[in-house]
Amino acid sequence: MEKFSQVVRAELVRSELVLGRHCIKAELAAIIHMLGSLHLTGQRRLSLSISTGVAGVARRTVKLIKASYGLDTEVQVERNEKFGKQHRYNLIIPDQTGLAEMIVDLGMMTREHSLEGGINSDLVKDNCCRVAFLRGAFIAGGSITDPNKKTYHLEMVTQSEDFANGLIYLMNLLGLKAKISLRKEHYLVYLKEIEALIKFLSLTGAYSAVLQLEEIRLVKGLRSEVNRRLNWETANLEKTLSAAMEQVQVIEKLQSESGGLSMLPDKLRETAFVRLEYPEASLKELGEYHLPPISKSAVNHRLRLICEYGKNLPG
Ligand SMILES: [Zn+2]
Repeated sequence: MEKFSQVVRAELVRSELVLGRHCIKAELAAIIHMLGSLHLTGQRRLSLSISTGVAGVARRTVKLIKASYGLDTEVQVERNEKFGKQHRYNLIIPDQTGLAEMIVDLGMMTREHSLEGGINSDLVKDNCCRVAFLRGAFIAGGSITDPNKKTYHLEMVTQSEDFANGLIYLMNLLGLKAKISLRKEHYLVYLKEIEALIKFLSLTGAYSAVLQLEEIRLVKGLRSEVNRRLNWETANLEKTLSAAMEQVQVIEKLQSESGGLSMLPDKLRETAFVRLEYPEASLKELGEYHLPPISKSAVNHRLRLICEYGKNLPG
């Protein structure tokens, strides 16, 4: 099965750029923050590169740049020998009018000309843009574990602590209670609750992934209900059987005494014989084997009396 992360990412990168330029800028900013790097060459020439292993992400990014700033982008494809000869897509945005404006606009430039840093709050003033930003962050650095596994987990990985905190803040504003943890110098912003995962995917536009997730949740729920019932029934069965074994032992002990079961009153003797004959029967079944049949509670009462007799025996 195709990895669920890939399914979600493929759906998100195919989704329409329907909203305004504000949202397009927000999504682009998230992608560039996570996958881009700035280069300053001689004569103060600036260029931006964005690198990804996913063709769909590269296509989406080119589209976003075109739609928001109308800049030219060169696409270089290289075969990465290190990672199983996978393709690597490098987008180069060479120095041109509008590039500096874009870089400042998207809140990427720091004094060191690096891409580190938090999220420019101007980009995420409205909910539509906050959602677009999260879509970009997931496209660039998100993953979801196979929902068929025991626990649900969606995460976005970044090297910048400020950026991670920014994501947490945005997610909180949208009612998603995200958490953060540090793994090998990378910051993980993650969600664990199925409801939160569904909300995240619905907001960002991965609708068919949401349907798949709902279906898996349903099947998992049914399965655990069946298991719970089975466990409950097994436990009850064991309890019933161990009580029956004890009754049989008492009756056999009474039999071995002088006089045997004749010491018991007629009604109890009948019940004792029925129990010996059907050691694994339930109380209800035992009642039906009596002539005439008696109720479950009458059987229970008689068996208790028989056990009392047994207790009064020496040894
Ligand atoms: Zn917007």
